Amino acid sequence: MLSTMQDVPLTVTRILTHGRTVHGRSTVTTWTGDGQPQRRSFAEVGDRAVQLANALRDELGVERDARVATLMWNNAEHMEAYLAIPSMGSILHTLNLRLPAEQLVWVVNHAADKVILVNGSLLPLLAPLLPALEPVEHIVVVGPGDTSLLAGCRPAVHEYEALIAGRPTTYDWPELDERSAAAMCYTSGTTGDPKGVLFSHRSVYLHSMQVNMAESFALTTADTTLPVVPMFHVNAWGIPHAAFMTGINLLMPDRFLQPAPLAEMIETVRPTHAAAVPTIWQGLLAELTAKPRDISSLANVVIGGSACPPALMTAFDPYGVRVCHAWGMTETSPLGTVARPPGGLTPEEEWPYRVSQGRFPASVEARLAGPGGEFLPWDGESAGELEVRGPWIAGAYYGGAGSDPVRPEDKFSDDGWLRTGDVGTITPDGYLTLTDRVKDVIKSGGEWISSVDLENHLMAHPDVAEAAVVAVPDDKWGERPLATVVLKEGSTATYDTLRDFLAERIAHWQLPERWAVIPAVPKTSVGKFDKKVIRRDYAEGRLD
Ligand code: ADP
Repeated sequence: MLSTMQDVPLTVTRILTHGRTVHGRSTVTTWTGDGQPQRRSFAEVGDRAVQLANALRDELGVERDARVATLMWNNAEHMEAYLAIPSMGSILHTLNLRLPAEQLVWVVNHAADKVILVNGSLLPLLAPLLPALEPVEHIVVVGPGDTSLLAGCRPAVHEYEALIAGRPTTYDWPELDERSAAAMCYTSGTTGDPKGVLFSHRSVYLHSMQVNMAESFALTTADTTLPVVPMFHVNAWGIPHAAFMTGINLLMPDRFLQPAPLAEMIETVRPTHAAAVPTIWQGLLAELTAKPRDISSLANVVIGGSACPPALMTAFDPYGVRVCHAWGMTETSPLGTVARPPGGLTPEEEWPYRVSQGRFPASVEARLAGPGGEFLPWDGESAGELEVRGPWIAGAYYGGAGSDPVRPEDKFSDDGWLRTGDVGTITPDGYLTLTDRVKDVIKSGGEWISSVDLENHLMAHPDVAEAAVVAVPDDKWGERPLATVVLKEGSTATYDTLRDFLAERIAHWQLPERWAVIPAVPKTSVGKFDKKVIRRDYAEGRLD
């Protein structure tokens, strides 16, 4: 028997309408670097989003399902695009501005983007690529920039403020199927071409509700959040949409992502919440050591995107900042787990929960696949590849215009679960601990060595700023760990002292024999350790 409930679609349109009215007084503050941050209410942002939708439809001829890309920093105008484009039935495609040029071209052509909204400051990046971006018909320049770079280009060029000015603040929104695509994002293509994930209205809506929950990011109307994580990195982990649902104020860093301006904006605007990958927080800590600032407003900081070294969490304690670890990926929208400990525990009892990747919410089902494909128990010890499914987990990748979705065998099981490529354990009460990525784990003899484990121990050494451990070929053992370390300024640590430090913490057979001091760990386009560059440098003899 069917229920007697109304069948109302879950859509981004609803999030826009709700946020601009009910939370109309909440604000989006965009850092401008000149001491005068730009401040707009949700009501204004909502009005401008509706004007943008009108402009895109009436002036640029954008239709349902058309892909409208953004090449933008985190700012109020990007928020307007986030709300307008899906609500009109088109698809928001956030472009990763740190992708190598050839990948950016590939992604725009694969998605067949019709329009690109670009921050003026990014025109030097976009302009040289334009001749290769065949599907693009319109460029909309947002904010100041050198528009002479676009002289003579084929797509029509528009200026954002002029384009939306005077447009109606009402729109006859289409009735959307909640399963239709609202936004798209490509994985960063660490191996092969990037893969496109299409988020649905329903998945965005449900994911936003989960992001807001106290057990997740705990966003409330009384708070201000600083998403340092870019809006092109899996929708800034869902924070923009969640904010319009819950009314939390947004502090947008725009292009000021370096440690010094971040510290300044935190001290000035006093956000209570923030989210970013570990490398951002490492940089901020170094900045605070050099130039102390008051960041104590940050009661609640989410670190994810790669494993958060426990030493990084404790380093924030003296600042009164509590770090919460979370795991996810593009294919999981991205919220997969959040490490909120169970209630009623002492800080010591909480610690193992806090350093885990976290607990699965009800909507994310998880299982661990063993080497032979068998499923392993949730006993906190059996390690296998994590597979997940749920209403905001991808079931396939975008195949390209006119093509069917694709389901590569290494990414999806026969029964449709997502193979995450991450290896770990799960406790009986649902806390995930990742030991590695399938492709990073070190297979030494018959045993596996966790590169993350070695890195976490090394980064707890007072002389080590960063450490990345990779597998390198070994005649006797198949693979052995190579430890690359970045030493803090003035450090006198030697390989022997680091090795002795490790020897007190891990099994002897796991100790690396190969070491290299490097000036910085290479990073991917979203700020994660880029281990394939280290492996290549080693193979080509640059790390001896
Ligand atoms: P890419 O796969 O291109 O790096 P994603 O941002 O989708 O892009 O990366 C997802 C991956 O990042 C996960 O599969 C996992 O390996 C890693 N990751 C994310 N969060 C964490 C975390 N808290 N701990 C360890 N690894 C993490």
